[in-house]
Amino acid sequence: MIIVLKNGHENIIDEIKSRFTETNEVFVHNNRVAIQGISEDELNAEEKNAIDLIIDNVPAAVQGSRLFHPEDTIVTTPHSQIGGDHFTMMAGPCSVESAEHVMKMAKVAKSGGATILRGGAFKPRTSPYSFQGLGEDGLKFLRAAADDMDVLTEVMDQDHVAMVEQYTDIFQIGARNMQNFSLLKAVGKTQTPVMLKRGMSATIDDILNAAEYIAAGGNHNIIITERGIRTFDNKYTRNTLDVGAVPVLQKLTHYPVILDPSHAAGHTEFVTPEALAGVAVGASGLVVEIHDDPAHAFSDGAQALKPDEYLAMAQQAFAIRKVITTPTQEKSEVKL
Ligand code: PEP
Ligand code: MN
Repeated sequence: MIIVLKNGHENIIDEIKSRFTETNEVFVHNNRVAIQGISEDELNAEEKNAIDLIIDNVPAAVQGSRLFHPEDTIVTTPHSQIGGDHFTMMAGPCSVESAEHVMKMAKVAKSGGATILRGGAFKPRTSPYSFQGLGEDGLKFLRAAADDMDVLTEVMDQDHVAMVEQYTDIFQIGARNMQNFSLLKAVGKTQTPVMLKRGMSATIDDILNAAEYIAAGGNHNIIITERGIRTFDNKYTRNTLDVGAVPVLQKLTHYPVILDPSHAAGHTEFVTPEALAGVAVGASGLVVEIHDDPAHAFSDGAQALKPDEYLAMAQQAFAIRKVITTPTQEKSEVKL
């Protein structure tokens, strides 16, 4: 249950907390108090008098819910803001390949308007014999290349959280780890923003509950990423981009929702159209893989945009963002 207090009745919050915290989870956001597992008749007369509204049908992932926190969360990093009215470009190679290569890709990313440099140093590969990433060396190369951009990189193991945190501005939790609850709890204990990618078979509620694990630990700097899901058809695309998930998630949660067209499409030729669809549908940002020599990329070359393709995509993405955020003209009468 969420109770919304009348203006000027916030002084009752401490009393509610002390009455219920021992037995129930209690969360407070401004004049809203979420108390899990109680019904209206457990409230006393004084509490009832302070209440403007009771919301009964509350999802399990309550802290992430707009019912509890109606305003957009804006995640702030040293060089970027993600969410709200902001549109954020994130780009870089799938894997950090060398100090020189990631430096070159950082320049490309930045010239397309990216303020966040992505790159994996710990790679979740389908085969154990595929390139697994450069590890901590890769993180050093990535950090050095980012210069005045933020770093976004995947953490795969709860034991690596403290080490990865030294180099990154945003943790990426990959699709395969979306329900690695120990890992979610570990990043939840930090205050470093977390970009959580939708698991390939995850429902909307699954990802919202995964995000709740991070919030439950005290870290509310969460970015949700749609990156394509497994459906009955992956013959022509690697995954199926669930573009409709973007507005649905934005309705349900206050966390920024961004889109990764690269892992959805799986093939370069479909990355730009899927990216633009994501912008058109209102995503707060894009995270895109780029490579200057995709044929020799250490991972995911088939879906990399070459620098010129990335620059063209980015230009169109910013243009579409402008169109959809420009207020429409005064209502014009339709004459029938
Ligand atoms: C990646 O970003 O390179 C990656 C492995 O993504 P995902 O977890 O979405 O497959
Ligand atoms: Mn990749």
